[in-house]
Amino acid sequence: MARPQPKPWISEIHAYVPGKSKSASGKPLTKLSANENPLGSSPAALAALAEGHVAADYPDPDARALREKIAAVHGLDPDRIVCGTGSGELLHCAVQALAGPGDEVLASRYSFSLYPLLAQKIGATPVFADPEGYAASVDNLLAAVTPATKVVLLDNPNNPVGSFLPPSEVARLHAGLPSDVLLIVDEAYGEYVDPALQQAAFDFAARYENVLVSRTFSKAYGLASERVGWVTGAPHLIDLVNRLRGAFNVSVSGQKAALAALGDQDFVRASREHNTAERARLADAIAMLGNHGLSASPSEANFLLVHFEGEVSATEAVEALSEAGYAVRHLPGQGLPNAVRITIGKSDDMTRVIACLRALCGEVA
Ligand SMILES: *Cc1c(COP(=O)(O)O)cnc(C)c1O
Repeated sequence: MARPQPKPWISEIHAYVPGKSKSASGKPLTKLSANENPLGSSPAALAALAEGHVAADYPDPDARALREKIAAVHGLDPDRIVCGTGSGELLHCAVQALAGPGDEVLASRYSFSLYPLLAQKIGATPVFADPEGYAASVDNLLAAVTPATKVVLLDNPNNPVGSFLPPSEVARLHAGLPSDVLLIVDEAYGEYVDPALQQAAFDFAARYENVLVSRTFSKAYGLASERVGWVTGAPHLIDLVNRLRGAFNVSVSGQKAALAALGDQDFVRASREHNTAERARLADAIAMLGNHGLSASPSEANFLLVHFEGEVSATEAVEALSEAGYAVRHLPGQGLPNAVRITIGKSDDMTRVIACLRALCGEVA
């Protein structure tokens, strides 16, 4: 008997693979696989959540108070902001509004694993530009633009590499794109970057008709479970995203927690400082294992992409870290079979991760 049949482009989709939290044997592991904040959440956000709310009532469909607070913190216009069920929802909306079957959605070869899904679910073709080393190359992205290109997705800092294009390079990318191609600058890790470089993308989004910048509360704000993100850009882009997003897409608790978290910039600063220090410590430890074939890509994010090109394989490293109690992200599905992405965790966890990698290389702790 005939069954309902999916569209052919839907059949080709592999569902998003989230970071692991259990070993092969089912043992719970400390997660260094999903880039969550090891410091947890701001006490102000936790207090707002503890207040509770009337679960029977719908949330504010326009997240007005939250948008006003975001605008105040970043010097933006609240009417040029849309909030979403994580930034992921808004990326889906923006791509869906502008691309469809026969169109191309461009990103760097190593970028957020959600990007090809955004294109595939609407029947568009994901296209990947060759990186430079592992990082996005502006020249290669521009060379990959065709008349079918509708959207360029740039995660900056990038996931899984951690690489960061400075504002001058983002400007060069934007300047080289046709004005009818949308540039989405996905700043999920934006709060981890040097504060002096954090405003540039917002300025592009305020100035140009074809730039959207996305941010999330899932990483430095430590609110991944609440599913809150936002985008800013020109009014016509905001209008498109508003038409496609869910009507009540940010829950009451999500709006409350995000609002309170924005008021606690000390927590964000502490998260960035912890991350910068521990990332440098892990990077130094890996550099010292260079004679065993280990290296880490330079990162401005809250993780390091570690390459295993000597006697120790990435698979062995994943197993050893799992034995030691840690889930990390092995990325063969993203064309990186020799690489492992390790989220920067708590200090004592990083000490154990370093000891585990040293032991694996036969170096005494
Ligand atoms: C984690 C991440 C996001 C955030 O997704 P949410 O839906 O906001 O939780 C977006 N982009 C990149 C590159 C990420 O790594």
